[in-house]
Amino acid sequence: MKTIKDLEIDGKTIFIRCDFNVPKDEDGNITDDRRIRGVLPTIRYCLDRDCKVVLASHYERPEPGVYEEKYSLKTVVTRLKTLLKIASNITLANNVVGEDTKAKAAALEAGEVLVLENLRYEAGETKNDETFAKELASMVDVYINDAFGACHRAHASIDAMARLFDADHRAAGFLLAKEVNFFHKTLEKPMRPFVAVVGGSKVSGKLEALRQLLDKVDKIIIGGGMAFTFLKAQGYEIGNSLVEEDLIHEARTVMAKARKKGVKFYLPVDVVVTPEFSEHGVAKYLPSQEIPEGWMGLDIGPASSRLFRQVIHDAQTIIWNGPMGVYEWDKFSKGSLKMSHDIADTHATTIVGGGDTADVAQKAGDVDEMTFVSTGGGASLNLIEGKSLPGIEALKS
Ligand code: AMP
Repeated sequence: MKTIKDLEIDGKTIFIRCDFNVPKDEDGNITDDRRIRGVLPTIRYCLDRDCKVVLASHYERPEPGVYEEKYSLKTVVTRLKTLLKIASNITLANNVVGEDTKAKAAALEAGEVLVLENLRYEAGETKNDETFAKELASMVDVYINDAFGACHRAHASIDAMARLFDADHRAAGFLLAKEVNFFHKTLEKPMRPFVAVVGGSKVSGKLEALRQLLDKVDKIIIGGGMAFTFLKAQGYEIGNSLVEEDLIHEARTVMAKARKKGVKFYLPVDVVVTPEFSEHGVAKYLPSQEIPEGWMGLDIGPASSRLFRQVIHDAQTIIWNGPMGVYEWDKFSKGSLKMSHDIADTHATTIVGGGDTADVAQKAGDVDEMTFVSTGGGASLNLIEGKSLPGIEALKS
């Protein structure tokens, strides 16, 4: 895969597909701008070479054709201006590929940046529509993909558009290249012991990743809602905790494979339980075998945290994907925050993947202590699963 450094870009008009799908709070404030900061090196590289820059991204899931303000990239552009410190040179287009936008793109001068509106305002984006891709391509000379978080989707700006450029006019940006290299290097040649910490709500979303990790890691820690399907598979009563009954057999197969391969497999030994799925209910700390009927586990308990700390203390590589509990609620966030601190405290190469997991690390104040925090949840999971990503395939095709 070529990177932007391999191309002749001086003075050209460059399209950079970014991933500006940043989290915001209920008032619309950006709560984590890592995805915007992540693409700055690629933008600066272009600006330093007198390029005209066209930036594009999706943001959440607007109804195509309906320009609702809350899905606009306006706040992203404001943040970009602050981060790049070149406010006067950045303009937000009125739309994605309309006349006015095309005119603004054509009028760009060296060192100026035009940000297109939310790509998903156009129906063609998610349909991977070639006509829409051609309209985007008509505004620029070179295509750069720096949207790792969107590379697992074959959408027009990721797939169809990249294929319209020859190998001398399309490449990965610095962020995309860094993400892919990091995951490949870690998964191919990890320093051992290599520990995977997997959490989050469901087994189903991470089953394939778990299967693949079993071939690579020395130890696996399971937490979060998905732990209960494994606990049930071991014959425990789990009350009303989250469970995927249809995957209990699969959970047994995974544990059997771990045993056969000598991969140590750890489940929570205690949990924080509550009678209802609420932020404000009573919470009790109980051993995993003693979950009362009708109660549900929403976090790992302190004994599990101590055990897991012990398990990771000698690790040289740690991949973490998925919170240990319902971390969004203070009462059930301790297990996840503690896991973040404990991972950050090790001397291992630590890789955090997934939006929620990065959010936990941020809340815990540990982001700077981690070796690498990925900007892509689904995309990083696909890399762990050994799947090829449409965005990367399109660059290589
Ligand atoms: P995922 O998208 O699969 O990584 O899951 C993340 C979500 O899992 C977060 O929103 C957590 O609130 C949720 N979660 C974690 N642990 C539990 C649990 N024990 N019960 C229900 N939801 C959970």
